Amino acid sequence: MQTMKENMLQFENACREQGLKITHQRVEVFKAIHKAKDHPSVEEIYAIVNRRIPSISLDTVYRTVDTFEKLGLVSRFQAPDGRFRFDTNIDIHQHLVCTKCGRIEDIHWDGLDRLKVPSVGGWSDLVLASVEIKGLCEACRKKN
Ligand SMILES: [Zn+2]
Ligand SMILES: [Zn+2]
Repeated sequence: MQTMKENMLQFENACREQGLKITHQRVEVFKAIHKAKDHPSVEEIYAIVNRRIPSISLDTVYRTVDTFEKLGLVSRFQAPDGRFRFDTNIDIHQHLVCTKCGRIEDIHWDGLDRLKVPSVGGWSDLVLASVEIKGLCEACRKKN
């Protein structure tokens, strides 16, 4: 897992390479996704950024995360509740998903990350992208 500083540096470099202006809004949106650590949805990102930039619109947040995804700065995946969630951790990693509250946490499972995907007829460039491991999170386990 990269630190905030490494992540911001990578972010700024990628923006420069792609000729994307590093604006206050973009920086805040990126930081919000990174700091949240729980893979926020666009609505959640908007709620965080809105506290710092009250004039930002949900639409702008949508467009910003879209741009980030195209630049490979964030990854998008669909949570079990059907909403898209965003992740600034773009290294191969797996997700622990709580079956009760829907919480999503990163885990690094070396053995799995190194697993070779079996070849499938006609397909190429197969990589293990992400695996969902379901269970009960700590908070839900304690409530049980
Ligand atoms: Zn839970
Ligand atoms: Zn993740």
